[in-house]
Amino acid sequence: MQELNPIPTPSDFLMDQWRKLNDDHFGGRLQEPPEVDWVEGISAFGQFGRVFGAIGINAQFRDVEESVRAAKVSKRMPTDEECARLVFVLGILLHEMVHQALHSDGSRSGAHADEFVAMANSIDQVAELKWPVCTADNAARWPFPEQVELD
Ligand SMILES: [Zn+2]
Repeated sequence: MQELNPIPTPSDFLMDQWRKLNDDHFGGRLQEPPEVDWVEGISAFGQFGRVFGAIGINAQFRDVEESVRAAKVSKRMPTDEECARLVFVLGILLHEMVHQALHSDGSRSGAHADEFVAMANSIDQVAELKWPVCTADNAARWPFPEQVELD
């Protein structure tokens, strides 16, 4: 059976989140990717494309963008559930940004090897979002505690 090609949908919402994470956690040093997209038909939660430098987030989380927008439009605070899902998406994005940072530094090491751990632990922490310590054991799923399929 032929595999479906992932269908990317560029998202201003994701790009805005990327910019905020870049400022908060990387001192603004990362180069803006050509696209940050919701992607249909991928099994991983996120992906960083080493060829073009685009970041894809699994479109199964697209409801986060919609709920954040809906809360803004109706001038209400997001619910705890909506906040938790937003933080989850930010975590996926942050993970891919660590790959991006390594790639732009010319890293040739394996995806979640020592360099990934060092990079993840070198990012700036901010008070509102405390990310956990990255270790050799949790690097492939960092910053999440449970097994998730990040790429
Ligand atoms: Zn990864």
